[in-house]
Amino acid sequence: MKIMVAIKRVVDYAVKIRIKSDKTGVETTNVKMSMNPFCEIALEEALRMKESGVASEVIAVSMGPTQCVDTLRTGLAMGADRAIHVDAPSTLYPLTVAKLLKALVQVEKPGLLILGKQAIDDDCNQTGQMVAGLLNWPQGTFASKVVVDKEKKAATVDREVDGGLETLCLDLPAVITTDLRLNQPRYATLPNIMKAKSKPIKKMSLAELNVDLRSDLEVVQVTAPPVRKAGVILSSVDELVDKLKNEAHVI
Ligand code: AMP
Repeated sequence: MKIMVAIKRVVDYAVKIRIKSDKTGVETTNVKMSMNPFCEIALEEALRMKESGVASEVIAVSMGPTQCVDTLRTGLAMGADRAIHVDAPSTLYPLTVAKLLKALVQVEKPGLLILGKQAIDDDCNQTGQMVAGLLNWPQGTFASKVVVDKEKKAATVDREVDGGLETLCLDLPAVITTDLRLNQPRYATLPNIMKAKSKPIKKMSLAELNVDLRSDLEVVQVTAPPVRKAGVILSSVDELVDKLKNEAHVI
């Protein structure tokens, strides 16, 4: 069974986000970019499935500008067998990504498509659900544990929900999106970084996949959260209790 993993290149989680002065989006020029953390978890899970004999091949895919190739190289250094880069503009809405993933699935025919539950740049949390709908495949979102039964062609997925744990059984092929607690992604070792340089990355165009970029959705503006007021240092517990009693509504 092949596993396809969708990997998004996003602003590194440790970078302080700056909004562009014209409010059209987040500043990405001269900003450190990395693999979306939830996508690292998705890739790690696929690699563990390959190592345990459940999967035969792990394919990392990414859509966006040329620099996505760097993120895919990181995925190859972590252990993916090959990668596909769909050359596209940097602003892609989840529905477009879902359509592109559907087209790639139809070419590669994986038994599992694993995505991050959300991208930390746009926080959309939509792509996995949309692609499952487009493919008419079952979906296990926010997975905190996945067990694949190769013989039964099924996956058992635990999901952390408000009230506790929900366990689903999905017939394969299926879509899974990963939550933070699913695993701890590995670091790429130096020998694997070197090996990754010779692993194949196929470039595909939007036209080849026959997907139209037009969207009926437009981001009107992006604004930064209001600046927090400075805190105060109190000298005693009595002063704290007094403030809580008398000024709690303004804190
Ligand atoms: P989102 O719905 O935007 O929060 O993204 C959820 C997941 O969809 C990400 O963690 C990725 O696995 C996948 N995804 C979104 N955008 C892209 C992209 N441009 N390239 C590859 N995967 C993507």
